[in-house]
Amino acid sequence: AAAKRRRSGLAFAHEAGAEPAPEQLSLIGDMRAAMERGEFTLAYQPKLDFRSGRIVAVEALLRWRHPERGMVPPGSFIPFAEQTGFIREVTPWVLDAAIRQLAQWRKEGLEIAVSANLSTLDLLDPELPRRVHALLEFHRVPASSLCLEITESALMDEPALALAHLNALAALGVKLSIDDYGVGQASLAYLKSLPVNELKLDRSFVTAIADSPRNAAIVQSTIMLSHALGLSVVAEGVETEQELAWLRANGCDVAQGYFIAKPAPAAELAARIAAQGVAAA
Ligand code: C2E
Ligand code: MG
Ligand code: MG
Ligand code: MG
Repeated sequence: AAAKRRRSGLAFAHEAGAEPAPEQLSLIGDMRAAMERGEFTLAYQPKLDFRSGRIVAVEALLRWRHPERGMVPPGSFIPFAEQTGFIREVTPWVLDAAIRQLAQWRKEGLEIAVSANLSTLDLLDPELPRRVHALLEFHRVPASSLCLEITESALMDEPALALAHLNALAALGVKLSIDDYGVGQASLAYLKSLPVNELKLDRSFVTAIADSPRNAAIVQSTIMLSHALGLSVVAEGVETEQELAWLRANGCDVAQGYFIAKPAPAAELAARIAAQGVAAA
């Protein structure tokens, strides 16, 4: 019974000492109803590969199209979904939608990979690897075209359990990425002991490049050390041409940010990526 209780997000939140208040329960109800009404949607933000100059992947970012409040950004409901355990219902929806879209793009001949974001609770969920495997099979897409982004803090919560689940995901052939690198406590040496392929430099790092030569030196050495450890480096939050040029010159592999493209609905992206395909042919 304890194990069963632990699987339920609410029980988990309770054990963590954060029992949902009545108004929280009503918010969970609102979110669940919104999800069922189809108000959740994914926006996709391109990842530009410096070497080829092409968009090689996109990151799926959750949006809540609220009838009164308009587009609600994930920052205003995901933390709450995480606290209450409701994220356990959100993530399967996100993964299904992202992998379905990936299958659709592949059918249309677009050779891109898709990333999705995971939360701490997802990473500790023993069902996660099996669920991901089932979705890949159902939508008939190769595991290698899916990348899962996880933050350092998600790993540090319960490192042994997280590692077991990461190993199971890696065994499927799914790519793994460390999101928001640099703001957490994890060392690169520790991260390299995990089966990860990619490191995403946090936006604050990217922004800091222009501030001082010392910040630039930190980013430079992080890129070099990552490469020495066999990790591909993605810069997130690239907002200026200067940042993009600096990152290219300093060996960064992939860039993402408003300067390249903002997150957009799948249909808009497909047109952009298809146009790029024609231009390169
Ligand atoms: P993240 O995974 O680090 O995603 C990057 C965030 O930075 C996105 O915000 C993106 O729109 C924004 N961004 C991208 N380029 C730029 C830029 O050049 N400048 C600035 N200022 N911002 C930029 P968004 O979509 O609001 O998502 C925020 C966070 O919410 C994500 O951070 C991620 O941690 C979380 N999130 C989003 N979707 C999901 C999801 O499906 N599941 C989970 N668990 N978390 C999600
Ligand atoms: Mg991310
Ligand atoms: Mg990030
Ligand atoms: Mg971030």
